[in-house]
Amino acid sequence: MKWTQTLIPTLREAPSDAEIVSHKLLLRAGLIRKLAGGVYTFLPLGLRALRKVEQIIREEMDRAGANEVLMPALQPPEIWEASGRAETASNVLFKVKDSSGRQWFLSPTAEEVITTLAANEINSYRQLPKNFYQISLKFRDEIRPRFGLMRAKEFIMKDAYSFDTTDEGAMAAYKKMYDAYTRIFARCGLKAFPVEADTGVIGGNYSHEFMVPAETGENEVAFCEACGYAANIEKATSGIPKTAARDMGPAIEKFATPGVVTIEALSKDPYKVPANRQIKTLVYVADSKIILILIRGDDQLNETKLMARTGAVAVRPATPEECVATLGARPGSLGAVVNVPASVSVFADGRLQGANDMTTGANEDGFHMKNVSIERDIKVTAWFDLRTVSAGEPCAKCAKPLKIRRAIEVGHVFKLGTKYSEKLNATFLDMDGSRKPSVMGCYGIGVTRTLQAVIEQGNDKDGIIWPLSVAPYQVCITPLAVAPDSQAMQMAEKFYAELTARGVDVILDDRDERPGVKFKDSELVGFPIRIALGEKSLLNGEVEIKPRTGAVQFVKIEEAVDSVLKLICV
Ligand code: ATP
Ligand code: MG
Repeated sequence: MKWTQTLIPTLREAPSDAEIVSHKLLLRAGLIRKLAGGVYTFLPLGLRALRKVEQIIREEMDRAGANEVLMPALQPPEIWEASGRAETASNVLFKVKDSSGRQWFLSPTAEEVITTLAANEINSYRQLPKNFYQISLKFRDEIRPRFGLMRAKEFIMKDAYSFDTTDEGAMAAYKKMYDAYTRIFARCGLKAFPVEADTGVIGGNYSHEFMVPAETGENEVAFCEACGYAANIEKATSGIPKTAARDMGPAIEKFATPGVVTIEALSKDPYKVPANRQIKTLVYVADSKIILILIRGDDQLNETKLMARTGAVAVRPATPEECVATLGARPGSLGAVVNVPASVSVFADGRLQGANDMTTGANEDGFHMKNVSIERDIKVTAWFDLRTVSAGEPCAKCAKPLKIRRAIEVGHVFKLGTKYSEKLNATFLDMDGSRKPSVMGCYGIGVTRTLQAVIEQGNDKDGIIWPLSVAPYQVCITPLAVAPDSQAMQMAEKFYAELTARGVDVILDDRDERPGVKFKDSELVGFPIRIALGEKSLLNGEVEIKPRTGAVQFVKIEEAVDSVLKLICV
């Protein structure tokens, strides 16, 4: 490709709404342009890099035995009603109406479509196992699209779905996808690592996310360097001990705490109740039902765990008015010892199990209670793990301290079981003549997010540092004179033809620009290798070869092609 034939609108400065480096570089290097918030056009270079990521994914999915299909973006709501997700996924669904008034959903994912297909087309154990995948546009009504392609309203996802006759078969399919993902991200030059994950609205009981470490990532991961344990903070547990046991002590005592409405205030003079001896009482609304949550004063509630444990689709803290209506007091004085309506469930974090000599709100503004023994004095509906782990806590597996770091979720694998196959009737006749639901798995990769993660991980002050596998072009030939009869341009054309014939992706910078401008642009776009052709070095029979992150090498003209091929290992 000749530079002047394509469109590479590089920018000196990134638009001010680009906050993170990869978003800035996508714009500055002329890879994408914003049409509206969370909606982007891929320009020629961006699309080339994207197609390379897609191709790596395609090759590895094919290698793992998955079959490529293409499902519609328009999905009838009926299949979502049948799976039960029309409600639960409602907040991300784009809903459109056709001219007859019929409603459609724009595909945010495709479990319902593929399961409907399987219900119609798979009838016998002889047709199983099967795995289908597609690479296609997905639509999600993200409330806060941000960071460019990282969280967009419209993005490209690879989604795969496996169907098996048994649980063991489904586990084997899961493992195959897990291994394929490991290879995919490695081939994209990404240091991605798998972590245990929550299953969220997708459902199922077993899941891993593939994470790329990055300060700008929207996820937090707890991990143990000693034994390799790693989990999304939404799911992570630790071996932190339960609250230290104490003597049961005397009966509960109410005491005045005027104006004290925080854990911290109660831990100070004159009360001096340490946070780890306080029970924090939170009133929440889980799918429109009021519930109480008890957690230790020095712990934080993990809302994802709360949703997972209670099965709620949406949770939020109750308003002060709702707190008063439920318990008769405002936040800061809440407790679960007295005045808890029978209809309100009380979920307590496991770390409080057996705790006594605790202090909690008295459900009366300005009062607390001490000598509370949780199992004696509070009617706990269920004990759950509800707390968020923090750095330094002992690993549950090996007791070494956990670390926490931020990361970008690029892929997600789920073992679904029979949740969708039962609801959408995807059954098969088994060997023994009985009809059973297929055991499913689903596997997603954010293709456009992966592309941006490659840039977030590979860049320096001058621009993008592409891995060869994903670079829009591997080599940029930069003649410093571009007149057709100049030696530099003629030599450039020759290299271009030879390298192209050898299967290398080459771009020839035939712009009539100053060398400085050309060099800056090629560093910004980040082509892995640049061949500069200047009249002076050509007179010496040499060209300049510069790897994006290495030093300039002067190479004899006749050896130049081989040197480049060696650098890119063709
Ligand atoms: P997130 O937690 O980031 O919202 P998710 O868990 O809802 O993502 P999945 O349903 O697991 O997403 O989708 C599979 C993959 O699609 C994710 O691992 C991610 O890489 C990508 N993805 C999801 N939402 C978006 C989005 N809004 N923009 C770009 N990529 C996305
Ligand atoms: Mg996910």
